[in-house]
Amino acid sequence: MHRVTLIPGDGIGPEVTSAARAVVEASGADVAFEPVLAGQEAEKASGTPLPPAVFESIARTKVALKGPTYTPFGGNYRVRVERPNAQGNLEQRSYPSLAITLRKELGLFVNLRPIKNYPNVPSRYDKVDLVIFRENSEDLYIGNERMVDENTAEGIKRITRVASERVARFAFDYMRKVGRKKITVGHKANVMKMTDGLWLKSAQDVAQAYPDIALDQRVVDALCMELVMKPETFDGLLLTNLYGDIISDLAAGLVGGLGVAPGANIGPDCAMFEAVHGTAPDIAGKDIANPTAMILSAVLMLRHLEESQAADRIEAALTAVLAEKRVITRDLGGNAGTRAFTQAIVEKLKSN
Ligand code: ATP
Repeated sequence: MHRVTLIPGDGIGPEVTSAARAVVEASGADVAFEPVLAGQEAEKASGTPLPPAVFESIARTKVALKGPTYTPFGGNYRVRVERPNAQGNLEQRSYPSLAITLRKELGLFVNLRPIKNYPNVPSRYDKVDLVIFRENSEDLYIGNERMVDENTAEGIKRITRVASERVARFAFDYMRKVGRKKITVGHKANVMKMTDGLWLKSAQDVAQAYPDIALDQRVVDALCMELVMKPETFDGLLLTNLYGDIISDLAAGLVGGLGVAPGANIGPDCAMFEAVHGTAPDIAGKDIANPTAMILSAVLMLRHLEESQAADRIEAALTAVLAEKRVITRDLGGNAGTRAFTQAIVEKLKSN
């Protein structure tokens, strides 16, 4: 039996996570969910958006399925946590959002995003099937910025061999496991000779141990152009934190956007699965959100738990419901609600 921490989150989070939960429970997977509050509800109840119960639960289960959580724009909003440091002493730390807090505090070093066409999801392309591996811990996102003077700002781009090789090894192992054949590493080593040079060299060094998987490389601007001209030629993309952030949204746009883009954050001890979309407050509580991205995130979670039969069954049921086009959510041109769409998938699972 796998125990899984379930974080319903804010906005449409409770609706789409309860859809994902219902589908997982109908799939026959050996999973028990442990719901914990994080986000606005938690803040109302306990004064903090990220109570210690969240970390306690994930420390036990090692796996979380997370709905989107609200982050206010601008201001000095920080999520504060008090947790042990490397020496075991309690330390206060703060981050710009709840999702970033969880990623950093749990050491989730890779952000994995599969990008694939599904039937009847409107898109300009029809043969896209690729996986993005985004380094999740360093690069320009370490937040080391400063004002030199009133009119000059600068920020540090940090690239280490340890983090670069770690994510490259993860990518090669993953590709081998799922039978994919080619990784394209994105970089700008022609200009950033040291930082992106080290990133590229690290990927090339790791590739030596994987002769069965080809390593290709592209300067990141050329990569963007090729992605929109012939996305079907890409298989795996290995990207630094900033390029990965930008290109994964671009790639989600190749297959129909936010409603169908799932994601995983994985580290050595635990993993967290979440849709790419946010809390969508404009449609929250109205039973109109599309739960597909959250359900596909749960499919990634089941594959991580080696419940591959249940994962295959859910993906097949979801694909069948989309292909039939009878029960489709509004964002995809139908008029079914979140619950009706979920129920159609659950019925497919029961009848197959
Ligand atoms: P946040 O501030 O949490 O990022 P947001 O509304 O600014 O929220 P998203 O939640 O990513 O950003 O969504 C942008 C728009 O896309 C929403 O207004 C919503 O209409 C639409 N959207 C996002 N997710 C879904 C979904 N699962 N189903 C249907 N529409 C969605």
